[in-house]
Amino acid sequence: MQDASKIVAFTGAGISTESGLSDFRSKGGLWDRYRIVTFQEFLSSHGNRIEYWSMRRELIPGLLAARPNPAHYCLARLEEEGKLSGIITQNIDGLHQAAGSQRVIELHGTNMTASCLDCNRQWPIYDIMQRLTAGDLDPHCEQCSGLIKPDTVSFGQSMPAVAMEQAYQAASCCDLLLMIGSSLEVQPANRFPLVAHQSGARMIFINRNVTPYDHLASVKFTESAGQVMRALLA
Ligand SMILES: [Zn+2]
Repeated sequence: MQDASKIVAFTGAGISTESGLSDFRSKGGLWDRYRIVTFQEFLSSHGNRIEYWSMRRELIPGLLAARPNPAHYCLARLEEEGKLSGIITQNIDGLHQAAGSQRVIELHGTNMTASCLDCNRQWPIYDIMQRLTAGDLDPHCEQCSGLIKPDTVSFGQSMPAVAMEQAYQAASCCDLLLMIGSSLEVQPANRFPLVAHQSGARMIFINRNVTPYDHLASVKFTESAGQVMRALLA
């Protein structure tokens, strides 16, 4: 890390567990209790959208209440010091930005805003939550009556092309990839550490569980991300 001048962080759900957000892919998580509504299903019926939004009504209050933890703040500090050139994240919780990080590439979009699928008008997710709570269970755009959906990438929805390109650029130009809290199982996001490795970057992994690419990392830590990051910066 001392030698590196272009660090890129690649983060997954594990970096946010210390902020109180459980990995919703984990057992007992939201995805165990709700059927996944694909993008096509969301578009196709009122009933599917009510189902989709009822899951969000459980998910979003936790996201709005969550605060960044030391791992998020350490990454923001590395950027401020000019060592870190960007963060590629699989997370939709907005915690990197809340910690002060400027260059954040969100591969799966964000749950902190929602947009009209027709006219692209955008709202803070809080505004949409208020409409849901008031009984509007399938909110539509007041301007054009288009469907409103959080700005996340749903199953069946294509990955954001600009973010994918930026992530590819960042991963192929870094000299150190710092992977924090990803199982590296979700495609196509999991290819970015490989891109970095193939471009000659060293890799540090901070993750509790085994990943398919552990053998490519120079160092692997299994302790808490906040603890490891504070120790590394110190
Ligand atoms: Zn609209």
